This record gives sequence, structure tokens and C-alpha cells, in this order.
Amino acid sequence: MKNFPNFLLILLLLNISAYSQEFDDVNCSAKSKFFKNIALSKINYPGDSSFDVKYYKLDLQVLLSPNLIKGDVRVSAAILLPELQSIYLDLNGSLNVSSVKLNNNPVSFSHANNRLTIQLDRLYAIQEIFHVDISYSGVPGSSGFGSFVFSQHNGQPVIWSLSEPYGSQDWWPCKDTPADKADSSDVLIRVPENLIAVSNGKLIDVIQHNDQTKTYIWKNSYPIANYLISLAISNYYEYKTHYNYSPTDSMPVNHYIYPENFNSYKTNLDKTIPMLDIFSEKFGEYPFIREKYGHAECGFSGGMEHQTVSSMGVFGETIIAHELAHQWFGDKVTCADWNSIWLNEGFATYSEGIFLENYYDQNRFNQFINTKMPQAKNATGSLYVTDISSVSSIFNYNRSYAKGAMVLHMLRGIAGDSLFYEILKHYHQTPHLAYNVATTQDFQLACEAVLMKPLSYFFQQWVFGSGYPKYNVYWSFSNIGPELNNITLSLTQPSGNPNPTFFTMPIQVKVTTSVGDTILNIFNDQQIQNYNLIVRGVPTQITIDPNNYILKDILVTHIESEGNSPNTFYLEQNYPNPFNSSTNVSFFLPEAENINLEIFDIQGKLIRKLLEGKFEAGIHNTKIDFSGFSAGIYFYKISTSTNFSVKKMIYIP
Ligand SMILES: [Zn+2]
Repeated sequence: MKNFPNFLLILLLLNISAYSQEFDDVNCSAKSKFFKNIALSKINYPGDSSFDVKYYKLDLQVLLSPNLIKGDVRVSAAILLPELQSIYLDLNGSLNVSSVKLNNNPVSFSHANNRLTIQLDRLYAIQEIFHVDISYSGVPGSSGFGSFVFSQHNGQPVIWSLSEPYGSQDWWPCKDTPADKADSSDVLIRVPENLIAVSNGKLIDVIQHNDQTKTYIWKNSYPIANYLISLAISNYYEYKTHYNYSPTDSMPVNHYIYPENFNSYKTNLDKTIPMLDIFSEKFGEYPFIREKYGHAECGFSGGMEHQTVSSMGVFGETIIAHELAHQWFGDKVTCADWNSIWLNEGFATYSEGIFLENYYDQNRFNQFINTKMPQAKNATGSLYVTDISSVSSIFNYNRSYAKGAMVLHMLRGIAGDSLFYEILKHYHQTPHLAYNVATTQDFQLACEAVLMKPLSYFFQQWVFGSGYPKYNVYWSFSNIGPELNNITLSLTQPSGNPNPTFFTMPIQVKVTTSVGDTILNIFNDQQIQNYNLIVRGVPTQITIDPNNYILKDILVTHIESEGNSPNTFYLEQNYPNPFNSSTNVSFFLPEAENINLEIFDIQGKLIRKLLEGKFEAGIHNTKIDFSGFSAGIYFYKISTSTNFSVKKMIYIP
């Protein structure tokens, strides 16, 4: 899913150039309107774990003026526990249940606290299948991003569902957890005859009734998570295209669009086919090839990857790519719990970049990475979502989307292109994950199986830890033979990140010398680590991570004069210098010490004490804000009990 809060959509309309931007950090008042009715009881909500869902059938009539739904839902499931007296389904209390049948016979039930409890008529054996039919009606509830909405466009009705994460139960009785997929599902929707009703899978039939209504019968023959079952209803214009997946076979790609918008969307809608080509080549064949893909236009400001038919409020090319990629990552293999939402959103977000790279060029991909990295750096907490009672926490853009995407990008840096795509294929094709659910650990195992090396360090720090590495780079070199030089490279990561305290990563290093460039691989697994690199020619420059795979900051790159090891007390030249508002100063302490860091003007008068007290061993950085100072030359001095150093800086406001 990708959501644009409504008030930001207004901004987007004012600034069309920002159309493809994504938004997350909305202010709290806007959020509170969007994320309502989320029960705190949703923490790790498993639903009723005494049965395993096999099949859902929704047979619903949607009525307008007044707006309501009525109909029947069938749930078929296998018993998992012995001696059960009752089972329950999740269903919003605003809906009125008129009858429940168990294997076609009426049974007693109760409906309280959004839970429909159904008495079993006898003892059932383990794995015995039962069928429950629930007749109900009413006005659906609305939670999260608006789980069921009656609205209008251009004077015409539009009705849609968007159940992720906790909204299915707002409009139909189900086991409301992504962890238990049904093997298949059918959705029958009866609507006024001037409207078209769209859902998952194949349209089997449209039945005309004599009361000016029609029933659309949709059949899905693939496993499906309850939150991916959808409906969308309006006076759609149906734009039919085809994806040719072999010289002789094709699959329908059908777009259901408001008639007044079709012309302006057509260019991007037509990119769906090349996107299917690109993703099928990179990831493996489109997962629902027996059925269809398509879009149904709705009134919300984003996109939602309903299985085989994404619901869309906007039609930018990257959001089309995002929702399509979800069909592999999200729909075919689904996060087992909302804590692991990055397995859906990080993958779909990174796939936007894969589309840009392969449809356009490397330059567009690099721009994409350069946009996502600052967002990923702003992620708070771990990529693994700890508070899944909050919808805004699950769908936090910087974390679940941008940082999730950058974790895949780093994995690509480690694996190389061809093994990276092998990992993606292996992951969604692994038999117990395909058309099923996965956790981060499942994905880690898939990566390790392809790369044949342990990756615990990678997932522990990037998924379950927080922050990102900041590197100080020091280097010097000495001549060791004809044309041969030994580079002493020192990488240090300052203290301050809570978990991990420093990052372990394989890092590429580009060494530019008088005879050309060389790329070397180092493995950085200590907070302060030295490497000896032997190169041909005289080194002139060192670039850490030249292909920009790692989410990182390079704080300082410093060429040491020979013999000056970073294992001694050191005060860095400030950066930038000269500067116009603020500048950064770094210093290195070989052991924990009491220090003073002070600024003096050109007459030697102390004008500010910056730091005072005991600091740990390692690199430390501080930012100095000069607003209010007059232009000129200043000195900064660090002193310890045994040492001091002074450097000059120039302030030009
Ligand atoms: Zn998404």
C-alpha cells in the first residue's frame, strides 16, 4: 500500500511536480483523522487459532440511499484443536447478524465486542472441515485508511474497500490476521445495474436481475490473505489490455477507471505491460497468471495492492509499479504479521527503483536511491515494527518503506546483481513460502541459501537494530617497492548508536592512483579498524562505498601525514571551512578523558565553551552554530589533562 494523506494530496495538486513523491510524516492532527478506531487489543492478534481457514465466499448486495450492505459470507475451515465447544470470527459490532448456519443447519451464536462466537453442534475431529454461513446487514465500520467507503465522483457513486491492516472485519466476518490465508475465495457483488463491481480473480458471470440490479461473480483460485479481498464499485470505463507472457499465451490486464479520467491516465496505464515484462523477468513470472491484473479507481489518495486488482486513487508510474510489485511481495508471499510489514512495503518500494532502472536508465535509479536514503536515515526505531497497535507506526514511510527499500539495496550491494535477483526469486518460490506467509527470518534463510554465507549480523542490525553507520576515514601511504604503495586505511565509527553500537558491513573501497582506479573489498567488523591495502601507483583519493549501496554518513575523510596514526589524540580541521552559518568539529580520543573544547576570537578572548567533561575513547563530533557572531577568523581549542590542539576557522555569514 502507498498512501497520500488527503491534505497532502491538496498540496500535490498545487505542485504537480511533486506528484510522485511519497509522504509519511504527517502531523498528528491529520493522522488522528486517518487512523481511527484501532483497538489496542490488536497487538500480535492471531484471530481464533483453533481452526485453519480454507475458503471465503462473500455474497453481498451493496445498496445506495441509504448506504448499506447485506448478504451472506461462507467460511470453510479445518479444525485444529480437540474438543472445541465454539469458534469465533471477527466482525464489527455495527453489523447486524440475522442467522448463522453450521454445515447448513442453524446454530446459536453471539455477537459482542466485534467478535461473532459460534457454538459448534458436536465435537469435531482434528482436520475435519466445517462450513459456516453468516447472514448479516448494516453500515460497515471504517478504520485505518477507511476500510469501507461510500463516496461519489463526478456525481456518480463509488464504493470501495481498503481493509489493510485491521479493516476486513469492518465489512465481513473473517479471521482477521494475515497469518492464515484461505486457499481460494469468491466474491459476488450485487449492485445497481448502471454500476460495475470489481474484485479479485476472474469475472465468471454477470447476472441481470429484474429489479434493475446485476450480480458480478468473481472467482479467485489462488491462496489469499483476508486483507487482500476487496471490492470496488462505480460507473467504470473498462480499458482492456493484454500481457503476452509467451508467444502463444496472454493474460488480461483490465483497468476500471472513472470515464472522466481515462484520457489523462492512459499513458501511465499502458506502462503496466512493460512493468509486467520487467518484473516477470527479474522476479519470475507474474504470480496470478491464470487470472488477471488490473486497477480499480477509488477515491482514496494512494494505492492498495488487492490481489489481481490494485485499488488506486492516483496513477503515477511509480505507484503503479509499487502496487504491481506487491503482487509478488505482499500478495504471493505475505508478511506473517504486521511487525514484518517491511517484507511487503520495503520490497514494493525498492521495486519502484527497479522499474525506473530498467524502463529508463541508471541515472533515474540513482536519483531514486538518492531520494530514499535521506528518508531512510530519518527512520526511527527498528525496521521490525514494535507497536503494531498503531496503523501510523506500521505504515511509517521512512521506516517500513524507505529504510526497508534501502535494506534490500544494501543486500544487492553484498550479493551483486545476479545473486540479488536469485535471492528474490528463491524467496517467493520457496515451497513453504510461496502463496503463503513469511517472517524476516524466512527471508534471511532465503538469502543465506543463495549466498551460502551467514547473514545474522546483517539482519540483526538492519531489521532489529536502529540507526545507520557513520564513518570517519583516515588514510596514509608509504612506498614499498617500484610503483607499489601500502595504504594504511583506518575506519572508525563514533559511539552513540544504541543498537548496534557500531555496524558490521562488507564495504567496497575505491582507490584512485596515478595509474588508475581499483575497487577493493574490506569487511568492517570493529568500531576502530585498520587495513593495509597494497596498490600500484601513487594513491590520490580513497572513496568508501563508491557505488552508494550503504545507508551511511561519511563524517571525515582525512589524509594523515606518514607516521601519524589515528591512535593518538587528534583534532580535525572543521568542516565546512570557511562556513556561513554552522560548521562541524571532530576529535579523536585514544582513551576516555576529561576535555574542554572552546572557541576564541582573533584577539585570543574566550567567546564560547563548547564541550566540557569526560568523553569516551573514539571519534566525537560536534556542530557549532555561529548565528549572532560577527564575520572573521576564530580559533577552536581542545585540551585534555596532558595535551591540547588549536585550529583556525573562518566564518563568512
Ligand atoms: Zn505498498
